Amino acid sequence: MKGPLFSIRMQASLHGRHLSGAEHLSTAEDLERLAAGMVKRALGHMRGRAEKIQLTIEEVATGQIDYGALPDLHTYLVDDYHQGRRAAAAILLKSGVSSLAIDGAMAAMASGAAPDGRSMRGAMLIDAKNGNRLEPDQARGVRVSRMDLTEQAQQELILGLQALGLDNAHVREALTLAAKVLTTPGIVAELCWSDDPGYTAGYVASAQQGYVRFPHLKPIGDERGGRAFFLASGEQDLSELIDYLQTKPMLFDRIGQLYRAQPWGEEL
Ligand code: AMP
Repeated sequence: MKGPLFSIRMQASLHGRHLSGAEHLSTAEDLERLAAGMVKRALGHMRGRAEKIQLTIEEVATGQIDYGALPDLHTYLVDDYHQGRRAAAAILLKSGVSSLAIDGAMAAMASGAAPDGRSMRGAMLIDAKNGNRLEPDQARGVRVSRMDLTEQAQQELILGLQALGLDNAHVREALTLAAKVLTTPGIVAELCWSDDPGYTAGYVASAQQGYVRFPHLKPIGDERGGRAFFLASGEQDLSELIDYLQTKPMLFDRIGQLYRAQPWGEEL
């Protein structure tokens, strides 16, 4: 990507509530095309047409951008979301998250992690040992921002995902978001399932296990989804960690291995 880069972010709401969001890092030439795509997405969302759409475009200082690689992608086939959540919990446990923290995160996401019982706009921050919630605002959560793929990495990812029958914006964007989360000092793992009622897949990501997808982490039709970032217990500076997630610009110029789906075996 040549020339200065811009962060372009979209937030859309309906009836005063968060509906949809999107993120890119882009050259000046590409901003118009991306903005048009974001507006289209906000107007055509599964849960309704946005009433308010906010676009924010800010130049990013080139020297601040860090480069990195996407994690490897695995898909484990599960029969239903019950099995999916058991499998996700097993991976999180292997990644150093306690059962207490896993159960707390899943219970919060399943019942709507915001104080009004709806989905949050961003992610929960959860202490990986004692399960305490650490995000300062439990309705907003923390939104990861200013990350994207280089054009070449994007093309490689599209081709690789197409070969697996998996190419869609959900997977590409979630993989990019998870990649940034995994570079964040102090975060050991992430758990996510979507708030789109028609999209039941979700994932767990960690440095050791990579990005591990499950086709079912919630029942079809459920509007409750969320994200949990599990923090290594200790004395990490919370405001520094939040600032990194929200503002550190990261471009991923390499993709990881993309593995074919395989049945989940409880022994993994
Ligand atoms: P989605 O995968 O877009 O359906 O989002 C699922 C959930 O992840 C949402 O309900 C939010 O709680 C959270 N989320 C969405 N986008 C972000 C983001 N950029 N940063 C942190 N959390 C997010």
